Amino acid sequence: MVASIGHYINNKPVAGKSGRTGDITNPATGEVTAKVAFATEAEIDEAVQIAKKAQLAWAATPPLRRQRVMFNLKSLIEKHTDDLARHLSLEHGKTFDDAKGEVGRGLEVVEFACAIGHHMKGDFTEQVATDMDSWSIRQPLGVVAGITPFNFPIMIPCWMGAMAVATGNAFILKPSEKDPSAPMLLAELYTQAGAPPGIFQVVNGDKVAVDALLKHPDVPAISFVGSTAIGEYVYHTGTQHNKRVQALCGAKNHMVVMPDADLDQVTDALIGAGYGAAGERCMAISVAVAVGDIGDKLIHKLAPRVQALKIGPGLDPQSEMGPLVTRQHRDKVMGYVDQGVKEGAKLVVDGRGLKLQGYENGNFMGGCLFDHVTPDMTIYKDEIFGPVLSVVRSGNFDEAIKLVNDHAYGNGTAIFTRDGDSARAFASNVKVGMVGINVPIPVPVAYHSFGGWKASVFGDHGIYGMEGVRFYTKLKTITARWPTGIRSGAEFNFKARA
Ligand code: NAD
Repeated sequence: MVASIGHYINNKPVAGKSGRTGDITNPATGEVTAKVAFATEAEIDEAVQIAKKAQLAWAATPPLRRQRVMFNLKSLIEKHTDDLARHLSLEHGKTFDDAKGEVGRGLEVVEFACAIGHHMKGDFTEQVATDMDSWSIRQPLGVVAGITPFNFPIMIPCWMGAMAVATGNAFILKPSEKDPSAPMLLAELYTQAGAPPGIFQVVNGDKVAVDALLKHPDVPAISFVGSTAIGEYVYHTGTQHNKRVQALCGAKNHMVVMPDADLDQVTDALIGAGYGAAGERCMAISVAVAVGDIGDKLIHKLAPRVQALKIGPGLDPQSEMGPLVTRQHRDKVMGYVDQGVKEGAKLVVDGRGLKLQGYENGNFMGGCLFDHVTPDMTIYKDEIFGPVLSVVRSGNFDEAIKLVNDHAYGNGTAIFTRDGDSARAFASNVKVGMVGINVPIPVPVAYHSFGGWKASVFGDHGIYGMEGVRFYTKLKTITARWPTGIRSGAEFNFKARA
């Protein structure tokens, strides 16, 4: 039975009207499980008009009451964690435990939003001039939109939506067309949590829906997470239409392994960060930089672990790594492996031939491990977004940090060492937005902020924490004097303060 997924407008699911749909497939079996509607420009406009009306009352709702909705949402997400995670496993392919972890990382931002009254409180200065006070406040932008990628269908909508809604905006989510079921359930949870109709809506679709949001005159801000090519397009199109845009994009995250690092710890870290979620994480480690003479030892430890990865459907509790999201994406990743071999890298573990009995139509591939990768190779330059780890050899610390700094992407990075001085020099000199010291995937907690540098981001502001509050609000500064200050009569001179 193939389900139909429409949109979630005005606090209820509605059918799509365009007649255009996309297939949702179970990546483990290749079976089409649902058809998702692709919105027209008119359907986007309908959602925006509903949101615009609803937002006025929502912005005027005291933050304490808005945060109570967030408290309710927090409980509902906790209650429905398994339901959300099941959707993620069935449409994205990740393992059930990893999917629950994803829900948890989204939940943290909802929890941060539970204190929005505190986060939004302004600054006040008494007596900026004689008998004159000044204060700054942050006010919501209006109707804001989020465009999200396939790889975190619940976490990233929580990063954007919770911050946007709690700060008093109405939020329209355009999720990835590959795995929309978890975002649709999230919308239902907002309704149950007490969000008024029109405050959190989901409009499914493709480029038509994205373009309609980017050009809509009543949408002043766009958050985007996805690939660099589309993020750059979203940033330029949105800003051309005078919008505030934050676009968080692709990555090629390096882990620098210093000669003094504990190689067992490093191996565990690389296996989890390189092959977890089949490498389909923007914070996955895809390059290990072996510094000094540890390259052979590292390969020797990694190779059997990559070969032994337990690969299977996400809902099988034995699986450590699931399938890739689509057949097309798996073939693209395999194409990169072919290219790496052609360009002269040494393929130490070849996962291309993996066959799983009973899952012949699934998008599975085994883990791949390359050694002697060099910066001129395509597999080094491009984001592969699959279970492929490249080991690069580097003579010393300076060469290693130069590699990281010269790479086009700058999302995350890590150093593994026991030397505080190397770690400190790395953290202060590396040109990357998120840095781990003996932590392979340094995704910041909700009260810090997430964001990369270089080709991993367009626009300004991280995506949650106080950066999120700033992105979704505009600053207003008021300077006031009360009548006693003008008792002495009119003033004609523009005076210096104080
Ligand atoms: P994608 O760029 O293909 O899609 C992202 C969103 O853009 C989706 O909603 C999609 O429907 C929409 N889209 C796709 N093509 C479009 C077009 N031509 N015009 C307008 N909109 C379009 O990305 P993806 O494959 O879903 O996700 C994987 C990418 O996301 C990777 O590059 C990964 O690194 C990146 N990512 C980055 C972060 C981060 O925080 N930096 C987090 C997660 C994922």
